[in-house]
Parts: sequence; C-alpha cells; structure tokens
Amino acid sequence: MSLEAKKVDVAIIGGGIIGSSIAYYLAKEKRKVAIFEAQQIGGKSTSAAAGMLGAHSEYKEFKHLYPFARSSQLLYKELYEEIKELTAIDFEKKNGGLLKLAYSEEERRDMESILSLSSVEWLDCKEAREKVPQLAADIVGAAYLKEDVHITPLIACNGLSKGAQLFGTEIYEYTHVLRVEKNGMGYLLITSQGTFLADNVVIASGVWSNNFFQQLGLSHEIIPVKGECVAAINEGAPLHYSVFHDQFYIVPRNNNELIIGATKKWNDWSEEPSLDGIEEVIQKAKRMIPEVGKMKWKRAWAGLRPQTYDGYPFIGEHPEMKGLYFATGHQRNGILLAPATGKMIRDLIIGSPVEKQWVDAFKVERNFFAYREGSN
Ligand SMILES: Cc1cc2nc3c(=O)[nH]c(=O)nc-3n(C[C@H](O)[C@H](O)[C@H](O)COP(=O)(O)OP(=O)(O)OC[C@H]3O[C@@H](n4cnc5c(N)ncnc54)[C@H](O)[C@@H]3O)c2cc1C
Repeated sequence: MSLEAKKVDVAIIGGGIIGSSIAYYLAKEKRKVAIFEAQQIGGKSTSAAAGMLGAHSEYKEFKHLYPFARSSQLLYKELYEEIKELTAIDFEKKNGGLLKLAYSEEERRDMESILSLSSVEWLDCKEAREKVPQLAADIVGAAYLKEDVHITPLIACNGLSKGAQLFGTEIYEYTHVLRVEKNGMGYLLITSQGTFLADNVVIASGVWSNNFFQQLGLSHEIIPVKGECVAAINEGAPLHYSVFHDQFYIVPRNNNELIIGATKKWNDWSEEPSLDGIEEVIQKAKRMIPEVGKMKWKRAWAGLRPQTYDGYPFIGEHPEMKGLYFATGHQRNGILLAPATGKMIRDLIIGSPVEKQWVDAFKVERNFFAYREGSN
C-alpha cells in the first residue's frame, strides 16, 4: 500500500445517475466523497435513457417497488428546484405526464390497480385524442398518469454530480477501478490512476457491477438488457404528453425531438443499435402515433439496463464486509429511482433510519424467490 494514497469517507464506483445521486446526498451531509468513473459522468446507461419518471406506468407491484418509486418521484420535485438553484442546471422537467394506452378491454382491466389511485385518471378514446390528437383511432382509451413526468437524464446526472462537487465531492473521470481490497477497517481501491483509501465503498457500476460481485466473493449477477432508441424530428403539432404501450414509448423533448424506444434484448452486451431493433421501435411507435413514420430521422443509440433476476435493485451492504455497499440493478427505472437510492445509501452509511421493508426487499443477501417478478 502506498503511503501517499488519498483517503476519503466514501468512494463511489460509477458516475451514472445512481452514483451521482448517492454522492450528492452524502456530500450534503458533509461526508468526504469521491466518484470514480471509468469514462465520463453519465456516459453509459444513464445517457441512453428516455427520462420518464414512471412510478405509475412501470409498476404492478404495490408492496415495495411502487412506494419506493413513488417516494423517488416525489423527491425529484424538491431536487429539481434545489439543483437548479445550486448549480443553475435545469433537468428539463416536462410536466405533461403520460398516457398509457389500452387497445382492448383486457388491457384496460389490466390497469385497474393504477386506476384506483387518485393521481390517475381514465380517459376514453375521444378524451385521450383531445389531449393527443395524433393518437391512433383504434385505442379503447388511456390511463392518464399526471405525475409520470419526464426529465433529460444526462442533464440530471450532470446536475447531481455538479451539486455533489460544490459540496466538496472529488470526481475522477477516466479512472477505472480495477480492484477493491479490504484494508484494516476500510478499503483500498486500486485504479488506473493510482491507489485510494476509503472508509466506505459504494458499487454503483451499472451492468459492470458484476466484476465487483465476483471479486468480493458473491455469486450475484446483473444481466444487461439492451435497449435501442431512435430520435425523430416532429415538425407537426407538438406533443405535450408521453405516450406508452407495452413498455414502448414516445417521449417529447425540447426542440420538437421525440424519443422513441425501446427494445428489450436480454443478455446482449453490444452497445450499438441494430436495424432490427430500430425497425421494431418504429413499428411500435407507429401503432401509437401513425404519423411517426413520416417524421425526419435524427439519430439512434443503445444502452444496457442493469437487470436483476427478481426485478428488484440491490441497495444494501455486502453480507460480510462492513462498509461496502451495492447500489445497482435498477433495470428500466434507474433515472426514476436515483433520488430514493441516493437517500437510502446515505442513510445506511450515516446510520439514519431506513424503511425496514425496503432494506429487506433490496438487500444483497435476499431470497430471490420471495420477490420474483417484482416489476413489469
Ligand atoms: C434505452 C433505455 C431507456 C431507458 N429509459 C429510462 C427511463 O425512461 N426512465 C428510467 O427511470 N430509467 C430508464 N432507463 C434505465 C436507466 O437508464 C438505468 O437504470 C440507469 O441509468 C442506471 O444507472 P446506473 O448509474 O446504475 O448505471 P450507468 O449509467 O450505466 O452508470 C454506471 C457507471 O459505472 C461506470 N463504471 C463501470 N465499471 C466501472 C469501474 N470498474 N470503475 C469506474 N467506473 C465504472 C460506467 O462507466 C458507468 O458510467 C433506460 C435505459 C435504457 C437503456
């Protein structure tokens, strides 16, 4: 061990939205934090995301995941203002909400659980098309999810990391963490840019967290679920709401850009979009808004969602190594879940109370069968 090694309270491995949120919440509590990012902040799964905060559109399970997701959705409201004031970075929050389409009575019935929530309203076909006149005429109707607004993920990630930096966090980009080793009461991080010491380590490395599970004696696995997206230019009437069906969506961004996504390719590690994938998302989008086919092409991309076997993220301490935490496996909702994850890891580290049901549901050493099929 080098005597020169720099020491921090908390070393975070991965500067995606999850690592950046954790850094922000901990730095605000005056912890000395460092983020180690192999490439650029937010450059991986985070920058590929559409940015929907879909607590209502995404979850059928109301026991653990929906309450956690909803708490995170609510945290965004304050975080949005807080980060804007602190850093002048605007997450580009769009408040229109989301229409979850139903093409049959069966699909409508499938939404009954969310329709019982006060923040959700059922619109028949005519009412839905009043909100979005471009919608296909063969829908039965849509659940109007007012609170499922969206943001621009890379900007949010940059806002959180910038906020963390203003509270003293050190950010090491292009710094690959090669190994984490136990060192007395703390940990040694061997990186491509030298060695660091930390009292606590948080692994927030998205799909690449697998390397650390293996190194640290755990057989857990994160599976990449590749998502491919296309951006189109809408020169027609602007879209004020996101539309969603069967886990595919069209999300309006600033300057008339529509984000159209996304495929779900299990255990596919390639980060380039394929023609098949692009064709699939365009077909799905045309089913929702037929005129999409006539819009101008802008770009296409792909990202890897970090998936767990039971659909729940890992947010908790290593079963045997005190002070070593995992915050990964947020699959298709990491943007939504970032604030609640940041807050939960902060509380675990500083010893503040955390909802027991979330600690149990998301802990690393859980019984996977108890929570199987936790999410859509
Ligand atoms: C197409 C698509 C659409 C999506 N849409 C949405 C959406 O609308 N709403 C939503 O909530 N979620 C969405 N998601 C999911 C969301 O993007 C992810 O859940 C989230 O970005 C995961 O964040 P993360 O920080 O865990 O991972 P990442 O953003 O992948 O960050 C992990 C970081 O760790 C770094 N890293 C890895 N290994 C090391 C190492 N050894 N040393 C240093 N750094 C390392 C990587 O370089 C990377 O930057 C979408 C995902 C995709 C692919």
